[in-house]
Amino acid sequence: MKLRELLIRSLWLAPLGLSLIFVLGVLAWVRANEAEEQEQQRQTLISDALSTEAQLRDRIDEEQAHLRQLAAGLAGQKPSVATLAAHPEVNAGLRRLWLAVTWLDSRSNRVLAEVPAESEANRYEDGLSLHLTARVAPDGVLVVRYAPALLLKRGVPWWLARKYDVQLVDSADQVIASSTESPLRAAQGPRPSYRVALTGPLRASPLTQATLTDAALELTVREPAANAIRPLAWVLVAGFLPLIAVASWLLRRQMRQVQRAEVAGRTEAAWRRAMEDSALVALRARDFDGRLLYVNRTFCDMVGLAPEALVGQLPPMPYWPPDAHEEMAERNRRNLAGHAPREGYEARWRHSSGRMVDVMVFESPLVDAGGRQIGWMGSIIDITERKRLEDRERRQVETLAHNARLTMLGEIASTLAHELNQPLTAIASYGAGITNSLAKLGVQDELVLGALQRLGQQATQAGRIVARIREFLTRREPRHERCDLNEVVSAALELLQRDCQQRGVALKVSLAPGVPAVLADAVLIEQVVINLVRNAADALQAHGGSRRIAVSSRVVGEFVRIDVQDNGPGLAGRRVEQLCAPFYSTKADGMGMGLAICRSIIEAHQGVLDASEAAGGGALFSFSLPLSREVVNG
Ligand code: ADP
Repeated sequence: MKLRELLIRSLWLAPLGLSLIFVLGVLAWVRANEAEEQEQQRQTLISDALSTEAQLRDRIDEEQAHLRQLAAGLAGQKPSVATLAAHPEVNAGLRRLWLAVTWLDSRSNRVLAEVPAESEANRYEDGLSLHLTARVAPDGVLVVRYAPALLLKRGVPWWLARKYDVQLVDSADQVIASSTESPLRAAQGPRPSYRVALTGPLRASPLTQATLTDAALELTVREPAANAIRPLAWVLVAGFLPLIAVASWLLRRQMRQVQRAEVAGRTEAAWRRAMEDSALVALRARDFDGRLLYVNRTFCDMVGLAPEALVGQLPPMPYWPPDAHEEMAERNRRNLAGHAPREGYEARWRHSSGRMVDVMVFESPLVDAGGRQIGWMGSIIDITERKRLEDRERRQVETLAHNARLTMLGEIASTLAHELNQPLTAIASYGAGITNSLAKLGVQDELVLGALQRLGQQATQAGRIVARIREFLTRREPRHERCDLNEVVSAALELLQRDCQQRGVALKVSLAPGVPAVLADAVLIEQVVINLVRNAADALQAHGGSRRIAVSSRVVGEFVRIDVQDNGPGLAGRRVEQLCAPFYSTKADGMGMGLAICRSIIEAHQGVLDASEAAGGGALFSFSLPLSREVVNG
């Protein structure tokens, strides 16, 4: 990461580096070009030197030929100045190159004649003079003297003379002759030059016939060809380097600015993202088609989906509850049309785990940097917990109201029980009084006496019930005593026997033998059994066909369970909570307190009251009471 950052930071150096490489390339090319040019110049120099040497040789050969022709023309003639001077070859030769023509006697080497006169011929006597010779029959020798400087002047073409200093040098590097008056040699430092040996035709002395040893022709470049590219290259490079340096500096400044802007942008984006993600409000942006453009982390957490699964999605959304798609789609259309309530609206979404989430959604226009609306921005608050608390509060208020009504009812019932106690005791006393009176009168009518006895029993039972209910409703603790539930059930059914017969209901009782004792208030439990059987009989009232109620007891674990099952219409999906709710009744004259009181009694005994649909249709009400601790402990 560090290395990458460093690379990016030094990126501005790249053009500078490339430019330097380019400059070095140009310089190398210039150098190579120069070397090639020098080589070419050297090649030209060599070939020019060779051709100059050939031309000089030709010139000397030519002069030699002229001299031979002259010698042939003079053969047999008497040597005299006049003869020589009159000969056209002599004049032509003097005009060309010759300094003097001397006729010698070959035996004594005595000068017989000479043209021109000595003094005239000294014109070119400053330097070394060279000679050509030819025999003149019968015994003379013609010697032509010529100056090597003149040979160079006449024998070297003008264009070569302009280009080079052409010199004849001897073995001691002494200049014998030069094509120019003032050789530039030492003045201008080393200049390219080339030497060609030119010994053959050059003779220094006519007498010795000795050749000039180690003489050479040297061509020296007068002015080395100026290299046109090199200075231009230097000028370009000199101009280019500061330019590229300035450009690089500007680039570096620009890149720094861009980097700073980038860092600032990234920091700002990170800040914005962090703020959006840490907001407790879920955010979502949508376009006009309802496509999700953006969601923050809170939104993702709220619906349990990753941003990738949400962004780009079109309705129906994955968090819409499957059973409410129509309603959600309808509301979505309304919102996209811009008719969402300003004060927000409530919705139910489905978390990916299946849990429902209650939300409050506020829609507002989504506006871009240019001020143009491009969709809708939604701010969503999770109100599940608030709703739950509200619900609980509502239920508490309801329960309080119910409890208030129950308390009031308890008061009424208590008063009623108090008021009924007197008449019931009176009925029992009167019943006993009538029975006694009839016995004294000797009335033996079993029917009357039996009825009177049952009247007394019912009145006493009613008195007991009223007293116990009063006790219960005045919130006194139930009277727990060891009792056999089979006996309690039997006692309750005995009281209902006649009623059931009248209603055409068959009562089937199957009590498990040897059911252990429970700690309970027998009168209240009896009341529960009576209530359940009565309700079953009521339910069977409208039922055609056979009407059956089955009451059974059995031990289940540490509980004794009593079932009351009928073959009536059943519970129609209602649950025990609903049935046991105070004042819930489906009967025209029902009060809806029976099951509520039953459940209170059973729960006061740490038992459970339950209701369910019976296996063969009808309802099954059951309650379980815990076995007494002594029984459980054995
Ligand atoms: P009430 O008897 O005054 O209606 P309850 O609390 O005893 O009050 O009963 C509440 C309701 O429960 C009844 O109105 C009835 O609709 C329903 N219910 C009770 N027992 C049965 C049953 N065995 N079969 C069908 N419905 C029943």
